[in-house]
Amino acid sequence: MDINAFFKVTYGLYIVSSMDGDQYNGHINNTVFQISAEPAKFAVASHKDNLTTSFIQKSKTFSVSILQEDISMEFVGPWGFKSGKDIDKFTECDYKTGKTGCPIVLDKAIAWIECRVSESIDTGSHILFIGDVVDAEILQADLPPLSYAYYRSVVKGLSPENAPTYVAKVDKTEEKKEPDPEDSSDTVKASQYKCIVCGYMYDPEEGDPGKGIAPGTTFEDLPEDWTCPVCGVGKNEFVKVR
Ligand code: FE
Repeated sequence: MDINAFFKVTYGLYIVSSMDGDQYNGHINNTVFQISAEPAKFAVASHKDNLTTSFIQKSKTFSVSILQEDISMEFVGPWGFKSGKDIDKFTECDYKTGKTGCPIVLDKAIAWIECRVSESIDTGSHILFIGDVVDAEILQADLPPLSYAYYRSVVKGLSPENAPTYVAKVDKTEEKKEPDPEDSSDTVKASQYKCIVCGYMYDPEEGDPGKGIAPGTTFEDLPEDWTCPVCGVGKNEFVKVR
């Protein structure tokens, strides 16, 4: 079996949100699809370890925010690589609640769909939730939706560990290629390092101003307790790319 065939399947990228009482949570999800037109039904697959999964099981509601192409890894970070068990992702985001009371993320969304769960199927690592659409809205009619391929190739993001499409071996070996000698130039430039968990690239020319790291700071000179601004892992999860 050649699992590379799996990577030829196309997906979008969404924020799926739900609630547990007055607590909200959501996460980046690529397995969202319409399964019926009459009545209108959507399905999402969500990892059993995700907090949002337990929220959907309790509230029997979920919303899908369809993201625009113009997003950064810094935006994806909390939604894709951090758990609602550790942070409240809704404190700094623009959202509203829908007809079911379910939170709906509006930041970077071009449209949203709100569903009430009618069926759940245990598929192994994930649960497939099937929901009847109770409401939907277009927010930005002229912007294209973000595809998973665009996220990988242009935004340079990787799959969160709980995504159905996550393959640890492929993601990690692919990033550990030797630097290309063709890339070397006459000017000696400080090396760039890439986070193998989320794909964030540390550029010494930019530093990490959000954490008080001045432009011009090499990766080697970063404090040992410095962490990836997107997913929060330590320096040991970075590999030199050039
Ligand atoms: Fe990271």
